Amino acid sequence: MSARICAREGCDRLLARRRPGQVGRPPIYCSPGCRPSWVRPPVLVEVARCEDNDGFITGEWIVRLRHGHRVVVVGCGLGRFSADMLANELRAFLDGRSIGMAS
Ligand SMILES: [Zn+2]
Repeated sequence: MSARICAREGCDRLLARRRPGQVGRPPIYCSPGCRPSWVRPPVLVEVARCEDNDGFITGEWIVRLRHGHRVVVVGCGLGRFSADMLANELRAFLDGRSIGMAS
């Protein structure tokens, strides 16, 4: 039996072999991203209170980007105003908008 490749047009990755005892239909796509029904999750900009090492809320704020289950912190130890400004700049950047700053 020859190796099978992904059913998505333009993708030539091999399909994972079925494990012994695996149930359900055999896969026809190499990954969830190749399924036609897959929708790319949006990148979210989050502003939240910082926590210290013991989990207590501090007076500082954190700004992070979330994409699915992946998170990256882009600012921490900020004041609320600075955190909101950074978040607005990030949202404008992600949306391809100008935020009215001198260029
Ligand atoms: Zn694929």
